[in-house]
Amino acid sequence: MTEESERQARFRWFRDGCENLHARYADLSQGAPADYIPELARVDPDLFAIAAMTVDGERLGVGDATHLFTVQSISKLLLYGLALEVHGRDAVLEKVGVAPTGESFNAIELDDRQTRAPNPMVNAGAIAVSDMVTGAGPDERLERVRAMFARYLGRHPEIDEGVWKSERVTGNRNRAIAYLMLSHGIISARVEETLDLYFAQCSLLLSVEDLAVIGATLANGGRHPLTAEQVVAHDVVRDMLTVALTCGMYDYAGEWAYTVGIPAKSGVGGGILGMVPGGGGVAVFSPRLDGHGHSVRGVRVFEALSRRYGMHLFDPDRPSTRPG
Ligand code: GLU
Repeated sequence: MTEESERQARFRWFRDGCENLHARYADLSQGAPADYIPELARVDPDLFAIAAMTVDGERLGVGDATHLFTVQSISKLLLYGLALEVHGRDAVLEKVGVAPTGESFNAIELDDRQTRAPNPMVNAGAIAVSDMVTGAGPDERLERVRAMFARYLGRHPEIDEGVWKSERVTGNRNRAIAYLMLSHGIISARVEETLDLYFAQCSLLLSVEDLAVIGATLANGGRHPLTAEQVVAHDVVRDMLTVALTCGMYDYAGEWAYTVGIPAKSGVGGGILGMVPGGGGVAVFSPRLDGHGHSVRGVRVFEALSRRYGMHLFDPDRPSTRPG
């Protein structure tokens, strides 16, 4: 078998696995869609999709793979990359650390000395990162964010206006976090504008197939597998994947690293994006969430895939970790 046909055979095997897992977990109805943002509770809870893209550009989508849903906290990962590119690592580290908190995503918590948000994956850090989006006013700043997504997706993602409005009306916990950070000089005074930008980035509409493209690009050192464009700088990708591994799954990050073992980011819209460095991106969408705010089926699918295909980064049998 040539190297190419071996790769294709392996991907077919992976596709079969995704199809089987989709069928196996379709009846799993544990958990419930997020309802603390009222508009999110209106989603069809049975939607379910799995998608993947390799660094060579091979792709698959199973189930509701083109259904658009709000990206929510998965946006935090991309915005972190944007902040690192624009401001540099030192400037970003001054405002946002890299320590996992063991707390929930919306904990009203800063670091020990109250000078930084704990990490860019919890709401505090993500709002501080959104504050760093440059631009003359709200429209220009939001456009910058959408344009950054467009580099990955080849289109500017739309915003779910209903969810955006709903977050704006009910997001008082995020408001509390933001004003706490203002009082400590972590973010600038344009607090409401930045919160609105944060709510807007959470309300961007993507499919699991879109997420898989993003994941494959990050797994490929920031180079888009289809366009070959360097979407985000190499060294920035390393930092993005590191915080995704240590903090991306919030207070479940330790268990996730133990059982699944790849960098990942989840969102309360029901999406989970995982990246296998050098391999590709995998994404699952299913809106019923567990107590940590992660998709129940999503966690199950990732656990099974990681076990079956040796995706865990520290698995001694992981094929691509063998030298030569
Ligand atoms: N927009 C959500 C919030 O700030 C995002 C949370 C999440 O997806 O974990 O509450």
